[in-house]
Amino acid sequence: MSGGSVAVIGGSIAGCATAIAAARGGADRITVFEREGGRLRESGVGLGMHNDRYAELEAAGYVHASTPWTELNRRVWTSREGDAERGHEIGVQPFPFRGYGWGDIWNDLRARVPETVDYRSDATVTTLEPDADGVTVVLKDGARERFDVVIGADGYRSVVRETMFPGLKPGYAGYLGWRGTSPLPLDEGVAEQSEAQTVGFPGGHCMIYPIPDGQGGLRTNWILYTIPPGQDPAAAPAPPERTPELMKHLQALVTDHFPPYWAERVLRTPAEKTLMQPIYDLEVPRYATGRMLLAGDAATVARPHTGGGAVKAIQDALVLERAWEKGGDWDAVLGAYDADRTAVGAAMVELGRRLGRAQVDDTPDWSAMDQGGFDAWWQGQHQGSDRKSGFGGHALKRD
Ligand SMILES: Cc1cc2nc3c(=O)[nH]c(=O)nc-3n(C[C@H](O)[C@H](O)[C@H](O)COP(=O)(O)OP(=O)(O)OC[C@H]3O[C@@H](n4cnc5c(N)ncnc54)[C@H](O)[C@@H]3O)c2cc1C
Repeated sequence: MSGGSVAVIGGSIAGCATAIAAARGGADRITVFEREGGRLRESGVGLGMHNDRYAELEAAGYVHASTPWTELNRRVWTSREGDAERGHEIGVQPFPFRGYGWGDIWNDLRARVPETVDYRSDATVTTLEPDADGVTVVLKDGARERFDVVIGADGYRSVVRETMFPGLKPGYAGYLGWRGTSPLPLDEGVAEQSEAQTVGFPGGHCMIYPIPDGQGGLRTNWILYTIPPGQDPAAAPAPPERTPELMKHLQALVTDHFPPYWAERVLRTPAEKTLMQPIYDLEVPRYATGRMLLAGDAATVARPHTGGGAVKAIQDALVLERAWEKGGDWDAVLGAYDADRTAVGAAMVELGRRLGRAQVDDTPDWSAMDQGGFDAWWQGQHQGSDRKSGFGGHALKRD
């Protein structure tokens, strides 16, 4: 089917990718509403993409070989061992991923949104008014516009999802992710330029890998998960903001529990550039209802341990494009999309919970773990293989 008008709420990764899908599907009029001004470009740190998922998305024209990336082959897990510079090696595993700067992936998608798409920045959507065969989008300035279909690509606090499923909110997982980057001069750390590192400590872990710095060099990208001090994870809400006390706790934790080599690299990130991200779970009963559909984090927030958030967002767009190509009416397109994505989203959330339990809530005694113990522990979380569990994102279904 072709023609029709489509509003995309949110112009980040899922928003740009679904705008591309709608254009390829043949929509006549596509408008993206993004509440941020030009600031998206400068935001974000790193993201990892599994090689197999990259290959699928590249073949479909959503990601591109020209975007700068780092090749990661193995993931080395370590823990502190006295003052030993690199600590105790817990285990090593294959890690067929690519490291990206978040902004590079977003920039590339944004640049590929066709010029026929009306991408509006500083445009906040406050309300959606669905009717029998369309949806009216209401903006903060009071303007109203009606579309045949609305795509909710507006992230984990989605207004589109709130309209589809009133009261359905992300659930706080009970711990925080801290993110940052620091300089990685090319004359140091030769091994870490192609390796992901994970430092395990009691009550959490930190993943560290190189990403492009945007100027032909590299940066060390890290994300650390830990329960905030003094919190009962089962009862407490997420801290609303980064406080000096939380920052101090983070710095002390890194100093005390990281092998000195990795502590130094993480602590190179200035406090004011360290981002705090409460970790949430969210799944929806349906990806599409009526004339509204959800994509990316608006539909599913799986914990970042799954290594597949951005991949899932872009896959959502590709599956939507394929549903569009198959034709039929709007009900057929939205129904085919819903049938594919709802189950994938739920599986990602479930995997994230399992990984969070093992890697944050109930961490093992890393210092006593060797390669054999590590392999058994990892497999226990994946119920077989990484591939089947969806680690790094699920493979797309073949027609
Ligand atoms: C600035 C930024 C930086 C990020 N950096 C990283 C990173 O470094 N590493 C990583 O793994 N993940 C990062 N993420 C998260 C990552 O983009 C998502 O987990 C995943 O890729 C899915 O993206 P998404 O487009 O569904 O959601 P998001 O990326 O969360 O995008 C949602 C978009 O919707 C817009 N929006 C929300 N509400 C409204 C509204 N009412 N009206 C109009 N627009 C609205 C937001 O401004 C935002 O641009 C970042 C997200 C953002 C927004």
